[in-house]
Amino acid sequence: MFRFTIFGVAVEVEPWFWLVMAYIGGGFYALKSNSPDAYMGVLLFMMAGFISVLAHELGHALTGWKRGGGSVWIRLWAFGGLAYHQGGRLDRRNRCAMILAGPGAGLVLAAISIASLYVIFPAPEAFTRMLYYLTYTMIPHEYMLNIFPDDRPVYGFLNAMVWVNVWWSILNLIPVYPLDGGQFMDQFVKSRKRMHKISIITCIVVVVIMMALQMTMGLIFFAYFAYTNYMGYREAKY
Ligand SMILES: [Zn+2]
Repeated sequence: MFRFTIFGVAVEVEPWFWLVMAYIGGGFYALKSNSPDAYMGVLLFMMAGFISVLAHELGHALTGWKRGGGSVWIRLWAFGGLAYHQGGRLDRRNRCAMILAGPGAGLVLAAISIASLYVIFPAPEAFTRMLYYLTYTMIPHEYMLNIFPDDRPVYGFLNAMVWVNVWWSILNLIPVYPLDGGQFMDQFVKSRKRMHKISIITCIVVVVIMMALQMTMGLIFFAYFAYTNYMGYREAKY
């Protein structure tokens, strides 16, 4: 377990967090190809993933704390991150602000990453790179050299920053409890049963899309959420 404090917020990082990041960042591909560039790519993805998930959770934690949500701490684990609050009281408006601050922080990082592309590269190349970066989690360095000669592996970091912050922020806004979109919906849907039902139906749609796109990790996440929402639905009283 790795622990530190940032902006007065205690953060815990579980080993599982790094393993999942390494997997999404192409860890198996790196082991297979055994090239230093591929390992570098995985490392850069893990860095980008860590910075992005931490910024997302800090968005929740600091907004909640500023609006009277009590003491806060953050845990990064296999399923991304969690921001905890204890001892405070938030009304619905402040709670909504706290929920949206997570994906909001991610979208700000996405905008900064895309703007960096336009600072580093001429506009047409920046645009082409943006499209590639949004399509691929990590373009393997050899492949990147075919598209963009004279490339450097370090651009893999920007690639991961663009991909992670755009897609994970959008994915987080999907109305599936306990994702941010689901928690936002929970503020407005009075019936718990209906809230879980909407989550289950949305999960099924997302799972079908992810099967088509062969996104293994996302598929596991949403299948797990479908299960937890089904359990929640069965236990809900109203
Ligand atoms: Zn969140």
